Amino acid sequence: MKSVLLIGLGRFGRHIAVKLNELGHEVMAVDKDEEKVQASLPFVTNAVIGDSTNEDFLNSLGIKNYDVCIVAIGDDFQSSLETTSLLKELGGKLVVSRATRDVHEKFLLRNGADHVVYPEKQLGTWTAITYSSEKIFDYINLGEGHVIMEVSAPPEWVGKTITQVDVRKNYHVNVLAIREEGKLNVAITSDTVFDSDQTLLVLGTEERIMKCFRI
Ligand code: ATP
Repeated sequence: MKSVLLIGLGRFGRHIAVKLNELGHEVMAVDKDEEKVQASLPFVTNAVIGDSTNEDFLNSLGIKNYDVCIVAIGDDFQSSLETTSLLKELGGKLVVSRATRDVHEKFLLRNGADHVVYPEKQLGTWTAITYSSEKIFDYINLGEGHVIMEVSAPPEWVGKTITQVDVRKNYHVNVLAIREEGKLNVAITSDTVFDSDQTLLVLGTEERIMKCFRI
């Protein structure tokens, strides 16, 4: 169980709170808006009204005690930047901040953020890739050119085993799992046979995967 400080309870922050709660983590929620704080109460362990750009207020929360501090403020970049910087100064172990523009991402990283999440950009990329081909069903960017994609099996693989196709050697792609009738099979062996009804979860460079599956 992680102890998380979540600052900013707009739509994005609220989704984070709901999921963290579902995963069984301890969440301290902060927002300057009383209504937002009230609305978060069913999903969080504790919630307080306060301005996160106020150092004394932040200090009173005991920043060092949280495993993760998430700054989910979006539009108000000044607040987001000041909060991020203060959290790091006050000993935040892992500060994750939300960016809404490319330039914000850079500033946040230079001013105390250990990681930046950029929902519009990340989800925009995901939407473009996932819906630009009927062969792609899901996409996860792992960075440094590597991705995990869920794709349909090429027709010429159907009826052959993984060994016969020799996927890794011939295409430099790893098959991690196969989805069939909605169920994910992660117990892939060399004898697993490809079928036209399946989708494959594959790991590799984006370039290799695009080439291999002719996307
Ligand atoms: P979302 O896009 O997530 O719905 P939003 O557009 O409603 O967000 P933002 O300006 O991104 O609003 O702020 C998200 C939340 O952060 C709001 O609920 C806002 O009250 C809160 N917030 C902004 N600045 C501060 C601050 N300095 N201290 C505490 N909470 C803040």
